[in-house]
Amino acid sequence: MNKAMGLLGLALAFSLHSPALAHGVQPQQSTPAEPVSPGPLMTADQMYKAFGWDFDKTEIKTEKLAEGFYVLFGLGGNIAVSVGGDGTLIVDDQFPQLMPKIKAALKGVGSDKVDFVINTHWHFDHADGNLTLGKEGSWIVSQSNSRDKMLGDQIVNFGPFATEQKAFPQHALSDITFDTTMQFHINDQKIELLHIGPAHTAGDTAVIFRGVNAVHMGDVFNNSGYPFIDADNGGDLAGMIAFCQAVHDAIDDDTKIIPGHGPVTDRTKLARYIEVLTIIQGRVQALIDDDKSLLEIMAVKPTAEFDTEFQANEMMLPSFLSRVYASLTRE
Ligand SMILES: [Zn+2]
Ligand SMILES: [Zn+2]
Repeated sequence: MNKAMGLLGLALAFSLHSPALAHGVQPQQSTPAEPVSPGPLMTADQMYKAFGWDFDKTEIKTEKLAEGFYVLFGLGGNIAVSVGGDGTLIVDDQFPQLMPKIKAALKGVGSDKVDFVINTHWHFDHADGNLTLGKEGSWIVSQSNSRDKMLGDQIVNFGPFATEQKAFPQHALSDITFDTTMQFHINDQKIELLHIGPAHTAGDTAVIFRGVNAVHMGDVFNNSGYPFIDADNGGDLAGMIAFCQAVHDAIDDDTKIIPGHGPVTDRTKLARYIEVLTIIQGRVQALIDDDKSLLEIMAVKPTAEFDTEFQANEMMLPSFLSRVYASLTRE
């Protein structure tokens, strides 16, 4: 995603909804008044605009990680692709608007049809492509809690802002679900699906490709900034750390890690992510125990020393802290 454009769009979205601005009062920098309640509700189109997502201008980039195994980068969640004698299995499918380009990229790596789609979770930027692929007969697989979420309209609350994700029609729902583990044995390798517990949402899956030694972690592991914890939909910071630790323990130093967003990385980076999230969790918990409010916690800047490393910005940092706070103060 184009970060600068995204920020501009978000700032615009805020200013349009800000009563303070309407009355000619300068808003306080960066901290909205009620960061815990859902902020202005954006439509999907407003959200794409806010993130600077332009489907027409986007090109799909293909990175080869091994023979018959690729990652596609476009808009939204990264797509893992296994192509071989048994067919094509992909992890996450981005957006219908990008599907002609995604299919062209798949053709480029020798795939004519998507046989299986695994959704790491139900969020629109990882699963909206189901709207096209489900209609065309691809089998859709997800953790059972994710299918439950796809059945209804959902509010995805980032804290200072929020968006609505509409219920999926029947053809875009998961055809096959699992609760904790599941295995595929195709394209000469074992593919393990793991659900550890609530993390980014309540329905996350890590997909480990044993043959090519790679894992797709969905949004439980973000390699483009601090993670979004969808606390209002069962996401949980402690669970996110535990989920990452479980995957860390199930792979080795040579495993290629595909994050939900950002470039392909390795186990060292995952270990660092776990370390930083654990430190932040401890600091924010101590402030909560000290009866500090979210705004007071934000003022202390408990993440400051990591903000450059984690590419924090004025809009997403309040969102991250608000979701950490929501996760740690949930009844
Ligand atoms: Zn995502
Ligand atoms: Zn997500």
